[in-house]
Amino acid sequence: MSSLEIREELCKYAKKTVANRLVVGPGGNISAKHEGKMYLSPSGFALDEIEPEQWVEVDIETGAVTDTGFRPSSEVLMHLYAYRANPNIGAIVHTHPPYCIAFTLVEQELPIMFPDQAALVGKTVYIPYVLPTTDKLADALVEKVNAASSILLGNHGLVTTGRNLREAYYRTEVVEESAKIFLIAKAIKEPKVLTKEEFEEIASLESEAYRIQLLQKMQ
Ligand SMILES: [Zn+2]
Repeated sequence: MSSLEIREELCKYAKKTVANRLVVGPGGNISAKHEGKMYLSPSGFALDEIEPEQWVEVDIETGAVTDTGFRPSSEVLMHLYAYRANPNIGAIVHTHPPYCIAFTLVEQELPIMFPDQAALVGKTVYIPYVLPTTDKLADALVEKVNAASSILLGNHGLVTTGRNLREAYYRTEVVEESAKIFLIAKAIKEPKVLTKEEFEEIASLESEAYRIQLLQKMQ
């Protein structure tokens, strides 16, 4: 894949985050890694307004902006630290999905409720509120990026990672849908979630085929 293809793919998923109401206005930021560089949304743009050439190229090792484009998103440190800490991460999606934010106001770690959530996302962890755009938030996030591919930011939003953009993006959709269903059930009574054994059964090696099947369906 070339850097131009990465830029085009970023535009595609950026538009999806806006169309699916996972961010409002200029909120949220997305990046993808390519040959030691990350391509990150520029500061001050709504995600669906970014043109392919406007994604900001940043050297992951040095943190230097390596093209002459725009100012990177104010959450640039969060993205940089995550790529440095976990080389398996190929893309990062940070959004402000309403059910996830509502969930962080009343609960902490999202329980696992469904087979597709277990297989595609697994554990969702939680970070208490930290002032956005600071190195404190980047430091808090980096502690979790090897433990989980989805991280709820208290009173703020969600970060998902993946080996590629599609995986990171669909994890955001699955976590948001899961938070929504949890909150609806919770309004009636305490939801029945999957037991540890039920989760482990899905997360076991045999379920790899099931997970791949689900990912293919999402194309
Ligand atoms: Zn944010």
